[in-house]
Amino acid sequence: MQEKEIKIRVIACQLDELTIEERHLIEKAKEATNLSYAPYSMFNVGAAVLLDNGEVIQGSNQENAAYPSGLCAERVAMFYTNSRFPNVAPKILAVAGRSKDGFLKQPISPCGSCRQVLLETELRYKQDIEILLYGTDVIYKLFSSKDLLPLAFNKSTLK
Ligand SMILES: [Zn+2]
Repeated sequence: MQEKEIKIRVIACQLDELTIEERHLIEKAKEATNLSYAPYSMFNVGAAVLLDNGEVIQGSNQENAAYPSGLCAERVAMFYTNSRFPNVAPKILAVAGRSKDGFLKQPISPCGSCRQVLLETELRYKQDIEILLYGTDVIYKLFSSKDLLPLAFNKSTLK
């Protein structure tokens, strides 16, 4: 028996340590929380995707009385991005979340299903996606969805 240690790479930083492009995308993610439909959780999540062609696509969580029918902000943004610009790779994804008390202090963390979709998107476009998880106290910057999903199931598993 052997224990294996898996390392992930996460940069904890402040807004002023990010590029103008990154800060702008976080603002777009925060702005997208206003477009959220979350009457059940009262938890508003916004996502913004910057594509290689400079386009920015926003998404927000969309809830439903039949809970599984809703969808997270990250997947709303990523699926819309991939359907509107199927030939352009996403470059950066920013995510922000707020409750009735305001934006979260700690970085918001994508759910497992969103992580799987981000990984598939990276594999589809053969390009890592930088991920910015916003919190008012600290921002997490990751250089690939692979760091969000170690031991991932992907298309190579199917072969
Ligand atoms: Zn999710």
